[in-house]
Amino acid sequence: MSDASRLVRSLREHGVEVTENAAWTAAYSSDASLYRVPPLAVAFPRSHEQAAAAVGACSGLGVPVTARGGGTSVAGNAVGPGLVVDFSRYLNRVLEVDGGSRTAVVQAGVVQSSLQQQVAGLGLRFGPDPSTHTRCTIGGMIGNDACGARSLAYGRTSDNVVGLRLVGADGRTFTTGYDAAGRPQVDGADDLSARLRLLVEKDLAIVRTQFGRFRRHVSGYGLHHLAPERGRDLTRMLVGSEATLALTTEATVTLVPDPAHRALVVVAFDSLASAGDAIPEVLRVAPSACEGLDARIVDVVRRRKGDAAVPPLPEGKAWLLVELSGDDLVEVLLRARDLEKSGLGVSARLIEEPTEADALWRVREDGAGLAGRAPSGRPAHAGWEDAAVPPARLGEYLRGFESLLLEHGLTAMPFGHFGEGCIHVRLDFALEDEHGPDRLRRFVEAASDLVVEFGGSNSGEHGDGRARSELLAKMYSPEALRLMRSVKQVFDPANLLNPGVLVDPASLDVDLRAAAPRAALPPLAMAYSDDDGDLAQAVHRCTGVGKCRADNRSSGGVMCPSYAATKDEVHSTRGRARILQEVVSGSSELTWSSPEVHDALDLCLSCKGCASDCPTGIDIATYKSEVLFQTYRRRLRPVTHYSLGWLPRWVRLASRAPTVANAVMARPALGAMALRLAGVDDRRTMPTLARTPFRRSARLDPDSIEDDRRPVVLFVDTFTDSFRPRTGHAALRLLRDAGYAPQVVRRQGCCGLTLITTGQLDAARRRLSRTIDSLLPFADDGVPIIGLEPSCTAVLRHDAVELLATSAARTVASMTHTLAELLERTQGWTPPDLTGLDVTVQPHCHHHAVMGWDADQRLLEAAGAQVHRVPGCCGMAGNFGVERGHYEISRAVAEQSLLPALQASVGRTATTRIVLADGFSCQTQIEDLAGAEARHLADVLADGVPDGRPIGRAGSQEGRRMRIGGELE
Ligand SMILES: Cc1cc2nc3c(=O)[nH]c(=O)nc-3n(C[C@H](O)[C@H](O)[C@H](O)COP(=O)(O)OP(=O)(O)OC[C@H]3O[C@@H](n4cnc5c(N)ncnc54)[C@H](O)[C@@H]3O)c2cc1C
Repeated sequence: MSDASRLVRSLREHGVEVTENAAWTAAYSSDASLYRVPPLAVAFPRSHEQAAAAVGACSGLGVPVTARGGGTSVAGNAVGPGLVVDFSRYLNRVLEVDGGSRTAVVQAGVVQSSLQQQVAGLGLRFGPDPSTHTRCTIGGMIGNDACGARSLAYGRTSDNVVGLRLVGADGRTFTTGYDAAGRPQVDGADDLSARLRLLVEKDLAIVRTQFGRFRRHVSGYGLHHLAPERGRDLTRMLVGSEATLALTTEATVTLVPDPAHRALVVVAFDSLASAGDAIPEVLRVAPSACEGLDARIVDVVRRRKGDAAVPPLPEGKAWLLVELSGDDLVEVLLRARDLEKSGLGVSARLIEEPTEADALWRVREDGAGLAGRAPSGRPAHAGWEDAAVPPARLGEYLRGFESLLLEHGLTAMPFGHFGEGCIHVRLDFALEDEHGPDRLRRFVEAASDLVVEFGGSNSGEHGDGRARSELLAKMYSPEALRLMRSVKQVFDPANLLNPGVLVDPASLDVDLRAAAPRAALPPLAMAYSDDDGDLAQAVHRCTGVGKCRADNRSSGGVMCPSYAATKDEVHSTRGRARILQEVVSGSSELTWSSPEVHDALDLCLSCKGCASDCPTGIDIATYKSEVLFQTYRRRLRPVTHYSLGWLPRWVRLASRAPTVANAVMARPALGAMALRLAGVDDRRTMPTLARTPFRRSARLDPDSIEDDRRPVVLFVDTFTDSFRPRTGHAALRLLRDAGYAPQVVRRQGCCGLTLITTGQLDAARRRLSRTIDSLLPFADDGVPIIGLEPSCTAVLRHDAVELLATSAARTVASMTHTLAELLERTQGWTPPDLTGLDVTVQPHCHHHAVMGWDADQRLLEAAGAQVHRVPGCCGMAGNFGVERGHYEISRAVAEQSLLPALQASVGRTATTRIVLADGFSCQTQIEDLAGAEARHLADVLADGVPDGRPIGRAGSQEGRRMRIGGELE
């Protein structure tokens, strides 16, 4: 029996949920670091007792244990070769909140922002706020002694924890905390306390001089907390020990009042080092945050997210974002104005508008993920990402650091917690090159020497993990290292807790994920143009920041609906990326066709949410298509690839005799059989075919085009053509009203979306190439091409370029627009008056990801409508939601935002309420799950266009749906 099987059997005997599935171990093989250490198995305890049993079982078997929360550690702190214990899956509740004592008792897997939300009603917050606060857990924060931009005000996690419930290396449980007089206490581990006391007393001088020298001295154990003058405080010492001494199952944390007012002053400098020089001046105004930002990061944000993502900044090459806070608005503003007018830097600006301030904080928060590409254009890596020096020496250190980069031929975009002397940076070590790991080692050793020269700490925030534990020997004397080893011996004599971290460190240049071997890949279907045509580089875009595990709805995001529904790491963008990294490296048993790989990708909705919402720009939908292509090339495919993948063909055939086709589908036995054969879930309704497809009824005569009208091409998608011609007619009317002469291209062809999502990429390429050829003459002449179905428009804008990689595809992409994009910039046209109209909108996920929905929002608002935008995906995402086996997930996704939003709209008192969804699949989902009709933007706007021709469906059955075997609804 293998080690993994023995472990799994033992844990199951204790009732602990555990898996050794290769996809799951791949998904947990890395965190947000460079390292890849596949575990034997992953366990998901549901209680303190189960966690203790799991660790006890590992102790008995001699298997290492690594605790894991959100897995957002950047230094390889949360990866290990034995059992990974995931606390985030079930142990994620806030157990108690006491507003009087301002404390909360939480399970280790509670996400920071979830705790925040649950105490906000009391005007309280948990102080430390890492950039990853939307997905990092309190247990993980305890592991790393995490903090964030506001550590100037709230300190580190160790300053905010007053009690721990712990599991020791042998599975024993103990607690630490404070008595009523505030004296540190330990319960259940007197032997440990006594031995620690002896150790510390012997080496008091070392404890007092080498540990805890400044606020961001994070590297190494916090042994200074064990000094007698600090009350031998085991709670605070254990915080930051990176799960090498004990595992936390519950914590009592302190809460602080959230200041009533905040003001943000942005101070510009001519260089990052000058910003560093200014820190002592800035600290005089007692800011709650002081963050440094480099112009290169701001440029990346503008490039990736558009100019609108970055509010106007005072002219400069680097900025300090200085936040002042307090309960007295006048006092806060006075301090802010003083700073603005102090003459610091090149110029300064007080940002008074909270939305503008939020947008700037978002730029800063996304900085780490966006810095995944260096200024050189090469992938940029963690490894030396959070060193800190005493703040007074920051400017000097930054100059030294810039020289070091030059010396090593590296480029970077530094940013970080300047007020605390902590610099974040990602570097373009070419890890995939033969000498990449050597270069990494040479650089970090030199950088550590530089930090030590300035009295700093290799880590000022993220901890040592595998990236920096080896470098502790540069920061500490041999005696201090010996003391740390002795402390580890007291807690974990067999070295089973997170081995390789802090004591007896793993080598910093082994187990590097990006340096993993590359399997020889077959010819690829997609171009991967942003990744030099290299799929390995593309899937390695995922650095593990874990934003896919966050609830991204508050920022209007879509990513990652399947993770949100299942809470399984393998169904997160990151989990899938990790699995694909294994496939392209060939370093595990996983291959293109492994069932584990397909299971993990099966629940990917292909919504493309990650392509826009993940700061690294990873695009799992595209990779899923590639995997399906590589797996089923010239092989028998799943039935849905033939039924739904070829849907446009079947629809075209059926449209030749729509009445017969509709009648067949309405017959219970025949309809149900057809659906079953097609692999469609029988809870889905079928759209009825229009009696006259749009193309036939459009009556478009090129001769009728008036000379003074500007030509536009209306791209006719299958859905508009066969199921909702009225939307096509509405668009025609609207375009004519806006002064255009809309044309339909005679032999236009379809976009091949359903072939792309089912991985039939050779067929998709053939089809798309004909379509592009038919559109090219218009695009070449500068005629805009307008798509009505967002997913088809997105194919023309993006996938066609990736699949065909031709200049023709690029030209067509550049001329393809959504209706709103065109109308918004049409001079002399004003939208119809929609004042008072209450519009609940479900933007199609591809619309959000590829084109962005902002133009639609602006257009509707300019028309006077009250717009209620539903965040997230509707759950249908093209063919995903209708396929058998996906109904439950599809519904669960809809239940997150769409269905509650529809419910909420009913409660509003507007005179006219409508639901708007351009995507045919979104319309289907809304009708199937809520029984509501959703209209297209063209329908809504055209209603207000006064040309007297009816567009509605009076007298026809167009747009109506039927339940199989049922009546028309
Ligand atoms: C883009 C980005 C930005 C970041 N910004 C910040 C920042 O501003 N400030 C900051 O401090 N960090 C930051 N980090 C690092 C990281 O997100 C934080 O340290 C975070 O608190 C880790 O929490 P987690 O739940 O993801 O923990 P994990 O990564 O899962 O684990 C962290 C450590 O804690 C241990 N651990 C996990 N659970 C437990 C437990 N129950 N008991 C004991 N030990 C446990 C793990 O073994 C590991 O050693 C950032 C990371 C990224 C990718």
